[in-house]
Amino acid sequence: MSRFLSITSPALPYSWQQNQWAQMNASRESGRLPHALLFLGPQGVGKQNFAATLVDCLLCLQPEKQVSGGGACGQCKSCRLRVSGNHPDLKVIETQEKKKNISIDQVRQLGDFLSKQAQLDGYRCVVVNGAEDMSESAANALLKMLEEPGERCLLILICARPGALMPTIKSRCQHLNFSMPGHEQSLRWLTPLVGSAEQAKTLLAVTGDAPLKALEAQQWAWLDQREVLANQLLALRLRTAEPLAVAKQLQGVPTEELLLWLYHWSLDWIKLQQNLNVENGDLLRIFEEICSSIKTASLFVFSEEVFANYLLLAQGGNPNILLLLEGLFISWSQLP
Ligand SMILES: [Zn+2]
Repeated sequence: MSRFLSITSPALPYSWQQNQWAQMNASRESGRLPHALLFLGPQGVGKQNFAATLVDCLLCLQPEKQVSGGGACGQCKSCRLRVSGNHPDLKVIETQEKKKNISIDQVRQLGDFLSKQAQLDGYRCVVVNGAEDMSESAANALLKMLEEPGERCLLILICARPGALMPTIKSRCQHLNFSMPGHEQSLRWLTPLVGSAEQAKTLLAVTGDAPLKALEAQQWAWLDQREVLANQLLALRLRTAEPLAVAKQLQGVPTEELLLWLYHWSLDWIKLQQNLNVENGDLLRIFEEICSSIKTASLFVFSEEVFANYLLLAQGGNPNILLLLEGLFISWSQLP
């Protein structure tokens, strides 16, 4: 099933999305909901979930049972169809597995959908999940549809990289911006979900305060390996481990997460050298040893190298992972 459709229905907005939700509600109540919305914000901020909430509410046939805080009734025929992932008045397009782009054929299928009336007595909704992934021809085809989508019809474009989206598409949609909640708000949200504030702090520390990513990180089996990895990094500094051997060992872990993790650690090391508090307090002893073996300037160099590699992967690059890790650990072991 699509990533979007696997979101539990009825969806609810997150605590840090209440302003956006109030704005959408006001538009709905005054009958001024635009026909095209562009949701902008970083990966992991909850844009898909927010889109699902709005779609659920627009499709729901019992609006009187909805509450202003968000959430469709969850009981009507429409809500039940949404749970099954087969709602006839909802169309979701996103990059298919093993494909790099949203293709023009996927967008063309929307043409059929938009030319028909709603099958239930509500809205028709289209979600373009990852709008920046549209090929140029797909974006051009969508552009025409954005002009005249028809009555009681909403197109939602979800986008984490607005720079990759055609300006003409951007200008035809009303924008709604999402930003990451602050550390305290993330902590309040995450703590009851993971059981303890201690665990929530650790998870936020390894994911750079991204709450949804932090929740997901709880499932990472290798999270238990943090201490092992920290010791490996120390051993590389002390020349008691070989960069190539360490790279080989870590080849199997999710590289994007690993790099994000290393990036936040390097920020911690820089803080530690300035006598500031660190995020990963449980690793303090190892971090202190690492910090005594390396110059601050080198830590900046390393953090930049890690982050450049992270961006490369996050933006869809396909480097040789083993070579990438080898290069990184060789620099790490040699920096003054
Ligand atoms: Zn309903």
